[in-house]
Amino acid sequence: MVDDSALNDSALKRQARTWYEANWDPALSTGAWFRRMAEQRWGYPTWPEQWWGRGLSLAQAKIVRQERRRVGALGPPSGIGPTLLAPMLFEHGTDDQCRRFLWGCAVEGWQVCQMLSEPDAGSDLANAQARAERDGEEWSITGSKIWTSGADLVDHGMLLARTDWDAPKHRGLTFFLIERDQPGIEVRPLRQMTGDARFNQVFFDRARVSAADVLGAEGDGWAVTRTFLANEKNSYNPAAHEGGPFGRVDLDRSAGETLEVLQRRASAASAGRGIGRLLADLVAQSGRGADPLVRQRLARLWIRRSLLNYTNQRSRTAAPRPGAVGPISKLSVSDLTRGQRDLGLDVQGPSGVLVGEQARSSAFQYFALNSPSLSIAGGTDEIQRNHLAEKVLGLPRDP
Ligand SMILES: Cc1cc2nc3c(=O)[nH]c(=O)nc-3n(C[C@H](O)[C@H](O)[C@H](O)COP(=O)(O)OP(=O)(O)OC[C@H]3O[C@@H](n4cnc5c(N)ncnc54)[C@H](O)[C@@H]3O)c2cc1C
Repeated sequence: MVDDSALNDSALKRQARTWYEANWDPALSTGAWFRRMAEQRWGYPTWPEQWWGRGLSLAQAKIVRQERRRVGALGPPSGIGPTLLAPMLFEHGTDDQCRRFLWGCAVEGWQVCQMLSEPDAGSDLANAQARAERDGEEWSITGSKIWTSGADLVDHGMLLARTDWDAPKHRGLTFFLIERDQPGIEVRPLRQMTGDARFNQVFFDRARVSAADVLGAEGDGWAVTRTFLANEKNSYNPAAHEGGPFGRVDLDRSAGETLEVLQRRASAASAGRGIGRLLADLVAQSGRGADPLVRQRLARLWIRRSLLNYTNQRSRTAAPRPGAVGPISKLSVSDLTRGQRDLGLDVQGPSGVLVGEQARSSAFQYFALNSPSLSIAGGTDEIQRNHLAEKVLGLPRDP
């Protein structure tokens, strides 16, 4: 039995460093390294002890992560599985589901997507019309989901479907963990204005899901969805991610090589430079760096960026009001993104409409085209404000 939650920070730091120094071996296969971290409970230290974790706080997990980086070891898989599905399993999953899905995400590289939005059920998720009918030891799913990011790349979908058409809309729902690669599921990519096709429409025609993969009780899908929404907002906080690879990796490749690939990608991204840097370059190129109005807008953006950093830091070190930090961070990111986009396009003047090779900065133009998605994905700005008003400030409910 491990109980590190009561360790002081320097004892935890020593313990984590000692473990990583003794155990990190770049010659191990990536899969074997993930397995070693999970079995010895150092991969996801915030997970409960029963499930390959140590029950540590986010702030304590950050200490472990820092020590792992100091030693230069590869982190465990990041992404939706460990940050979003895991807390849902802790709250609603059976032991069998926790064993299979947590292990799958932590060690076997399972990828997961969110199958919630439908053409007529986005903000109003409880209006889901995808139909699930019991058929022996399985359920049969028919209907469609939309805006499903990564549905073409995953092993499982977190799926909300209606199982009782007579019950009030919030009570007739059930939550499933469905295998994606099967004949009853067709995934069609949707082209975005950036030119990418990162999300999809997914069609279900009598797709199968085992009764053992209902998450929570039948008819209790709304409670599970609420857990999903609470954790989805928190997953925008960088502290919720362990820092290992996002997406599928070759588990047979050595852990050292996987780490090198990650580091190369990270340095290519920083050579591609952050948006703040690109914006400063555009302002300089435009010759408007001395314009007081432009300087004032730049200063405002810098202040917003700093406030966002402080909010995220606060969520790691203090006990914030429940439910407040996720929506505030998300709204701050949307607001900062809009401010950066507008200033970058304004200083370019008419050439701000160019994209690709003709653009002054194709990276900035891509960012500008992608910017609206931040105010929509994971709950729109209006929905975040409703949440803060009703759940945090206690104002009257949205009629
Ligand atoms: C990049 C991206 C990735 C996404 N990935 C996924 C994914 O992987 N899985 C998934 O299931 N979904 C995904 N989505 C869908 C996303 O969750 C929905 O688009 C979002 O919840 C809004 O739903 P909607 O598009 O149906 O808009 P609607 O709900 O129809 O809203 C339309 C407008 O009405 C406003 N509105 C609606 N209700 C209210 C209200 N009560 N009060 C005030 N204003 C309101 C909204 O703010 C919005 O401006 C993704 C979206 C984007 C942009």
